[in-house]
Amino acid sequence: MGPMTAPRTVETWLTDMDGVLVHEEDAIPGAAELVQALRRSGMGFLVLTNNSIFTPRDLRARLLLSGIDVPESAIWTSALATAQFLLDQRPDGTAYVVGEAGLTTALHDVGYVMTDRDPDYVVLGETRTYSFEAITKAIRLIEGGARFIATNPDPSGPSPAGTLPATGSVAALISTATGRQPYYIGKPNPLMMRSALNRLDAHSETTIMVGDRMDTDIISGLEAGLRTVLVLTGSTQRHQIEQFPYRPSRVVDSVADLVPFVEQSAAGRAEA
Ligand SMILES: [Mg+2]
Repeated sequence: MGPMTAPRTVETWLTDMDGVLVHEEDAIPGAAELVQALRRSGMGFLVLTNNSIFTPRDLRARLLLSGIDVPESAIWTSALATAQFLLDQRPDGTAYVVGEAGLTTALHDVGYVMTDRDPDYVVLGETRTYSFEAITKAIRLIEGGARFIATNPDPSGPSPAGTLPATGSVAALISTATGRQPYYIGKPNPLMMRSALNRLDAHSETTIMVGDRMDTDIISGLEAGLRTVLVLTGSTQRHQIEQFPYRPSRVVDSVADLVPFVEQSAAGRAEA
């Protein structure tokens, strides 16, 4: 009998965006080359982000300004994952949305109707323009029976000027007022990975997830059954890895180290 873990081929790549491909507006060295190699390889790939502000078209334009050429169809946001989740759960539903175009467009595209009259769901996403009135409306609708969904649990995000409060912080405000917790769709919920795999018609056992955070990217990749690669250009530092009760399949300094690996796996020779 041979070993139970024969080398598996790699057919699909998922990669986080912030801290992996870019730091805010700036490309991380090797990111443009990685995306180029993935596009050349013919393998399926998606760039993942928990940020629900932007549409894939917006994100493509922003990445292009950083010199990274990702097709719109290769971008998977927590807003798209949320829309897919709601479509699967309750087709033709209604939602009261606190969020930006990334979220409202995604919900429209799956046939959802936005309303503040007895909606099936209150859906909270990332925004920079929270209004007291909108939050109050969301609270009252949840009290009235609307189910509470949030695109991502991140409490804060980075900006050149310092910390920005993010979806998780506003969700906490609504939770405190209502006593109800949201169901979060984005990482670390492995649903984000599973919906990305479904989008590509890909399989977990032949997919690699690349991320910069142990407690979001790596854990959700692991829980979705993927092999995982941690890059050290973002959140998690090398000395922190061993503090976690789980580990990535591989650790590399940056995405630049993955370019040859992508080229190899395209040729069907890779092992992780
Ligand atoms: Mg990241």
